Amino acid sequence: MQLKTIINSVTNYKPFVVEHIEMLEIESKQTIKVTMRARENGLPTCSGCGERCSGYDTSPTVRRFYFVPLWNIPVVLMYAMRRVNCSSCGVKVERVPWAEGKSPLTTEYQWFLAGWARRMSWKEVSECFCVSWDHVYNSVKQAVSWGLAHRYLEGIKSIGIDEVQWKRGHKYQTVVYQIDEGCKRLLWVGVDRKAKTLLRFFRFLGKERSAELKFVCSDMWQAYLKVIAKKIPQALHVLDRFHIMQKFSKAIDQVRSAEVKQLQADGYEPILTGCRWLLLKRPENRSEKEVLKMQELLQYNLKSLRSTLQKEDFQRFWSYRSAIWAGKFLDAWCTRTMRSKIESMKKIAKMLRRQRVLLLNWFRADGALSSGVVEGFNNKLKLITRKSYGFRTQTGYETALYHTLGNLPEPDFTHKFF
Ligand SMILES: [Zn+2]
Repeated sequence: MQLKTIINSVTNYKPFVVEHIEMLEIESKQTIKVTMRARENGLPTCSGCGERCSGYDTSPTVRRFYFVPLWNIPVVLMYAMRRVNCSSCGVKVERVPWAEGKSPLTTEYQWFLAGWARRMSWKEVSECFCVSWDHVYNSVKQAVSWGLAHRYLEGIKSIGIDEVQWKRGHKYQTVVYQIDEGCKRLLWVGVDRKAKTLLRFFRFLGKERSAELKFVCSDMWQAYLKVIAKKIPQALHVLDRFHIMQKFSKAIDQVRSAEVKQLQADGYEPILTGCRWLLLKRPENRSEKEVLKMQELLQYNLKSLRSTLQKEDFQRFWSYRSAIWAGKFLDAWCTRTMRSKIESMKKIAKMLRRQRVLLLNWFRADGALSSGVVEGFNNKLKLITRKSYGFRTQTGYETALYHTLGNLPEPDFTHKFF
């Protein structure tokens, strides 16, 4: 079998044909050179409007287009571009089926690189396939822009809104997910976490699609609450379990570090040192040794421990099935906590009281939302953010998020290279 046959079977480059294939050294590397030729009498296509036009001239220089490597041997298509004389666009370069614009990579190769870039970092892809970081970035970018232009946005019933911090300091992004049973994906990313930011999302989604939303899940960020109430009053608004429990962990952390300092200042032995994770751990995950340590701490009647127990007590809230009983539990818990004299925990109780209605909506959603989805996305997002120290720009970061979490569609190819 000839290489020509293989190339023809994995591509569809009509009306162009493979004229000649040879192996030679390009930039001191053995390379498979595939010379392409336009079929005789085949009129060129205008890259401006896509119409067939009469030819104008042919470029004296041959352009190189990198194709998916074969057995780690680079494959390069060689072709001298023609120019057309288009009645509507004037003199324009022709359109070829294997590449877009000025890219030195074929479309197949771009999708191939973009596919790998979902599995490993962009830096690793560029090292593995001996292309530049920019080539990988541009490949991902075109995959994302194709996917965004071709994705289907109808029938969205539930969304989750979250904020993420990127880069050190206080740079926030607002992210919106679709969290329907059959379709979970990142829908939108926007700079900042202001009311204005979320308004931009609803403008993007449009009035009709917004009116179809039935559930929305978010954390307690005031700007979000305001916009959600205004823009989608028909949707049941649920406060996310993951974010609420995160607030508890933060409060316990504050109590503990203040107490460590206090104990030190009072000259007590450092019994709380190294206990951070012990306190934040779920009780069912504690080892026997850790349980003993907890019991030991209990004797000291420490605020850290008391607030940990308050948190564990609150976990029962989520096991209720009816909003009425959950509400009674919530009220009792808040009353107990308000008497506890632990300021950080009292703050949580006040906040929960303030958001009572939205909290109880969790039970009114009646299992339509699973609590793990937003948390799952949040974890994946953190992973990408960690991997992403190479991104210098906001757009780069956004592109990576859409690429890995957007579940974006891809075009149909003659052959799947990835
Ligand atoms: Zn044209």
